[in-house]
Amino acid sequence: MKGPQKNSKTFLGSLWPGVFFRLSLALLFALLLTGCARSRESSRVDTAMGTLVSQTLYVTREQGQTREIQALLENLETQELSWRLAGSQTARINESAGDAQGAPLSPEMERWLRALLQVSEESGGAFDVTVGSLVQLWNLDELAAAGEKAGSDSLPGPEEIREALKECGFEKLRLEQGRIYMPQGMRLDLGAAGKGIACDRIRAYLGGREEITGAVVSVGGSILTYGEKPDHGAFKVAVRHPRREGEYLGILTLEGEWYVSTSGDYERYVEVEGKRWHHILDPHTGYPADSGLCSVTVALGPGGGPEGENGAGTSPAGEGADCRGLLADALSTACFVLGAEEGARLAEAFRAEALFVGTDGSISMTPGMELLFAAEPESP
Ligand code: AMP
Ligand code: MG
Repeated sequence: MKGPQKNSKTFLGSLWPGVFFRLSLALLFALLLTGCARSRESSRVDTAMGTLVSQTLYVTREQGQTREIQALLENLETQELSWRLAGSQTARINESAGDAQGAPLSPEMERWLRALLQVSEESGGAFDVTVGSLVQLWNLDELAAAGEKAGSDSLPGPEEIREALKECGFEKLRLEQGRIYMPQGMRLDLGAAGKGIACDRIRAYLGGREEITGAVVSVGGSILTYGEKPDHGAFKVAVRHPRREGEYLGILTLEGEWYVSTSGDYERYVEVEGKRWHHILDPHTGYPADSGLCSVTVALGPGGGPEGENGAGTSPAGEGADCRGLLADALSTACFVLGAEEGARLAEAFRAEALFVGTDGSISMTPGMELLFAAEPESP
């Protein structure tokens, strides 16, 4: 017994300096690595796409990422989404209305439109990307800017609304591989999904940058959470109180990648003779939606997206075309038009969670939302 014990001691003793040296080296490396990999916050608040953009990125190296994201959003607006800016893809599509040749579509625009048409179908037309003529007729941007000066004569009349409605209708839009065909007068308006599309674009950018370990970015009412915070805690996203400016209705606690969009009647509206005329239109009536809601928040997380073989968050239109930001945004608009009950059914069809606030202050939500949302004690 003694011999082998003594031998093993000697054996270990002879190994010890080498092992110690290697262990110390490994420890030093680990310390260096964790030291280098510690993320710090890089933030920016700016405007793009006609709204406030707030970025918080967690980065191991600062390399002007927030500036690149800002530029990415400006390009998205000017080159693709804005119907106002001649030369954008949407403006060129609108100019082609009535043309038998149609207009060419970028693969991405085609994927967006196919996904939006799916929301139109599933919502029974409550969501409709072809409402451009109606949106332009109501011109809520200008009405909201006029504020108290806007009188009842600045609102469109029933006949004008009927005429504008004739130029709307997603069933009349035709998509073929790489081309779009629209009847005379039809106008696309991607305003209800643009900020969510922006979140998808930002997500694609973040995924290509290994030095970005986490992020929370909000583009107006659409928010993306990504990766992890340096303290590994969950992301906390506030839901705005629809009637008390600067106050929160509650907080969403989100782990990892989520897309959250809110649609509310407080964003762009005008009050004429005591009635609120807001920017979310019901394509069935031509008037601002009157479903008893003042705000809807939709959250799409891991596993969210349309049911079916395409899997979570994937557009039916294209392989690997992740469009959960687009879907959250389009769904919040669609749910607003549909109202709480039908809206909850629509959200479920897309494996999304939704929170509804009624004009009477009532709050309802899908079962999954109850796990994410904590109301502020004082609200609503
Ligand atoms: P959001 O704030 O995301 O709910 O989007 C509202 C914007 O979408 C409006 O300012 C219009 O440009 C457009 N829009 C309004 N009503 C609808 C609708 N029913 N379907 C699709 N887009 C709409
Ligand atoms: Mg929307």
